[in-house]
Amino acid sequence: MKNTAFNITSIRNDFPILNLKVNGKQLVYLDNAATTQTPKVVIDSIVSYYSKLNANIHRGAHYLSQKATEAYEDARKKFQKHLNAQSSNEIIFTSGTTHSINLVANGFINLLNSGDEIIVSHLEHHSNIVPWQMLCKKTGAIMRVIPMNEKGELIFSEYEKLLSNKTKVVFVNHVSNALGTINPIKEIISKAHEFGAAVLIDGAQALPHFKIDVIDLDVDFYVGSAHKIYGPTGVGILYGKEKWLNKIPPYQGGGEMIDEVTFEKTTYAKLPNKFEAGTPNIAGVIASAVALDYINKIGLEKIEKREAELLDYATKKLLEIDEIKIYGDSSNKTSVISFNIGSIHPYDIGSIIDNEGIAVRTGHHCAQPIMDYFNISGTIRISMSFYNTIEEIDSLINSIMVAKKMLS
Ligand SMILES: *Cc1c(COP(=O)(O)O)cnc(C)c1O
Repeated sequence: MKNTAFNITSIRNDFPILNLKVNGKQLVYLDNAATTQTPKVVIDSIVSYYSKLNANIHRGAHYLSQKATEAYEDARKKFQKHLNAQSSNEIIFTSGTTHSINLVANGFINLLNSGDEIIVSHLEHHSNIVPWQMLCKKTGAIMRVIPMNEKGELIFSEYEKLLSNKTKVVFVNHVSNALGTINPIKEIISKAHEFGAAVLIDGAQALPHFKIDVIDLDVDFYVGSAHKIYGPTGVGILYGKEKWLNKIPPYQGGGEMIDEVTFEKTTYAKLPNKFEAGTPNIAGVIASAVALDYINKIGLEKIEKREAELLDYATKKLLEIDEIKIYGDSSNKTSVISFNIGSIHPYDIGSIIDNEGIAVRTGHHCAQPIMDYFNISGTIRISMSFYNTIEEIDSLINSIMVAKKMLS
């Protein structure tokens, strides 16, 4: 494969961890859907923050506090611009996708009545199922599920049948973390809006791969995690339309989210502070914006193209292995491949290739309903990033062949 799109050697040098030896072998990191690796500029920004900028934000009027506040708010503006949100008030920093979803689900407690309906898809991560189940328990709302087909795609006509005037919220992932399927979210959103329902899109697996435009999508809430877009752990993004963020109550009470507090009552701060109680992950948020700059400098179109090439190559090579079954073969998917070989337990292959320095994920990938659909307990999942190479995929294939021989 020609790497005319960008210089892979120089890109790999941006990521110190990619040079690591694991079990005496060169690391081959193919678990990018679990977390992406961090470029040196992002690591440096964390060191620089604690060396030169550390102070609590918003509160103190002293020099460092002002500087830290500026950097934190600049990060918010970068995410606003990246997502094409109308106002930086619509960007809330959380601790991750999970936190963002819980914040929104919790916000609907007072907006739902017993018998109201909410719609989830069969392709969700547990993070986008469990908080809503908890909401149903508290409110008496009923959860409906958009079914999937053998290709790992949602069945749109069934979704249309589930929608009614009782539907209040629809929550679907943009991309399935277990199969890589890209869902037709624009159509899902516009259908839901015909019935006045709000839509939350879990974008954890989409943000690393392509450009998101919240205005074009007309989405009500869009969430993701910085650690899956080459940033640090412990930072999440929540985009919400201002009208919705004003409608839902704060998730946590504490410092920074108030306007006025007495023992009788508290009035809440305006957006975005209303949802950012306590001291946030200041260093992490600033570093997340550096990560965003990093991928934008490479260009998401180039990233998408490179990852599509890796996906094609890896799929072709894997399909040459006897008895392999790939789960999820939508023509519209990201660089994720979930598979099993014969009746070999995925964990057994995973641990043998781990000895060769190859990092993949085995198990149910926090998406048990998908595993149930295929009647399996788990899969081996490889998830590729633009920094992966053809040589790494060849190493993977060789190691799988060795493992297969040992196990069958
Ligand atoms: C990783 C992931 C989550 C959870 O993200 P956290 O960073 O662990 O909170 C939710 N949904 C999808 C689709 C994911 O891939």
